[in-house]
Amino acid sequence: MAREHTDILIAGGGIAGLTAAAAFASQGRQVTLVSPAPPVVAQQEDGSDLRSTAFLQPARDLFDMAGLWPHLAPKAIPLEGLRIVDTVDWPPRTRDSREFRSEDILDGPFGWNLLNVDTNAALMSALEGRDGITLRFGTGFADMLTRDRESIVRLSDGTRLSAQLVVAMDGRNSAVRAAAGIDVDVIRYGQTALAFTVQHPLPHGNVSTEFYNEGGPFTMVPLPDVDGQPASAIVWMNPSAKAQNLSSLSSEELSDIASQRACNMFGPLRIISPIRHWPIAAQKARALTAPRTAILAEAAHVVPPIGAQGLNTSLNDLAALLKAMEGATDPGAPAVLAAYNKARAADISRRVQAIDLFNRITRSGLPSLQHLRLSGLKAIHGIAPVRKAVMRAGMGGN
Ligand SMILES: Cc1cc2nc3c(=O)[nH]c(=O)nc-3n(C[C@H](O)[C@H](O)[C@H](O)COP(=O)(O)OP(=O)(O)OC[C@H]3O[C@@H](n4cnc5c(N)ncnc54)[C@H](O)[C@@H]3O)c2cc1C
Repeated sequence: MAREHTDILIAGGGIAGLTAAAAFASQGRQVTLVSPAPPVVAQQEDGSDLRSTAFLQPARDLFDMAGLWPHLAPKAIPLEGLRIVDTVDWPPRTRDSREFRSEDILDGPFGWNLLNVDTNAALMSALEGRDGITLRFGTGFADMLTRDRESIVRLSDGTRLSAQLVVAMDGRNSAVRAAAGIDVDVIRYGQTALAFTVQHPLPHGNVSTEFYNEGGPFTMVPLPDVDGQPASAIVWMNPSAKAQNLSSLSSEELSDIASQRACNMFGPLRIISPIRHWPIAAQKARALTAPRTAILAEAAHVVPPIGAQGLNTSLNDLAALLKAMEGATDPGAPAVLAAYNKARAADISRRVQAIDLFNRITRSGLPSLQHLRLSGLKAIHGIAPVRKAVMRAGMGGN
């Protein structure tokens, strides 16, 4: 029996993998995406992760190019500002509050926030039935045999197919990365993020607010109104033992503590979703390519959820791979993979290091580091060129 062939095999049906399928097909490639389970498209489903993702401006360019933005736009809330509130002690005392505005460096907003379930649903509606894309949910990448001109991939259901390029977007425990013999360096922080959704009486004004205090940031990202009331997605980083204690509280008790943690800036918060736990780690693959293989997204890098860097860095990987493939007849040729590696390796290393350092400083209860946090915020915000440079770097620029 003839073996099935595809130009590009994508392992992983997360947001990054689904976006890649549309983008590669827009370049005229035949794409097969495999993933053990279909994406969760409703908040009530068991696997719903309750997170939202703030997609920064460069992600929008990619969504436009792949024909995805019209599907995403109806559920997207623009992010026009980022407010940093520096607090100490308990109950928290505000030392300083600064707002970074998108009009300082851009014509439009910094980006758009969407619930992950809404993003998944929009991406699925855009992909289904689209030419050049085969979606195979219920099976995953198992292993591969790499030859000069192609890779022979065995899937977990036993079928085999050949691909000119295998793209690893199968998450932090990537089976493709392991099959390619690429190790990872991991930093564990002993921190856990709690993710949940709240309603609040006062409007968020399309501004994302990060409250810093010992333990890590408490981030409120604007969502569309729920039942006519303003709503936000919360990501709250804490030492893991404290996160465990917090999540054993009743919803009312936790809502009260969360309101205090947010300095009551938006009035009393009311939790309207279950609570999900995310252990925090940083991770970096020791290589981004192997013969016929490109490593992208969380298979390549994991960072703590600070400054909306995770998935946006993943989409920067995708943009770089698309650029490297432009005009190439063979998407997995050594020159394409070398160009991808050249475009991304240094930026990924810098970003993982910078967020690691930022996390260590901002979560610390040491007075010297708390002082550094405050003086750093004042210095960055107070000097216009520095402020703009930091904002541009956060958007994915160098
Ligand atoms: C609390 C929190 C908040 C965050 N907020 C933001 C934010 O605002 N902005 C931002 O940019 N980032 C954010 N991030 C980071 C972002 O969520 C992650 O970067 C992103 O979800 C990872 O996407 P991914 O597609 O790489 O991996 P995943 O979402 O983990 O997807 C991997 C996929 O691969 C599949 N898979 C597993 N094994 C196999 C296999 N053998 N074969 C094929 N497929 C396989 C899985 O089923 C899954 O579908 C946040 C992270 C956390 C923890």
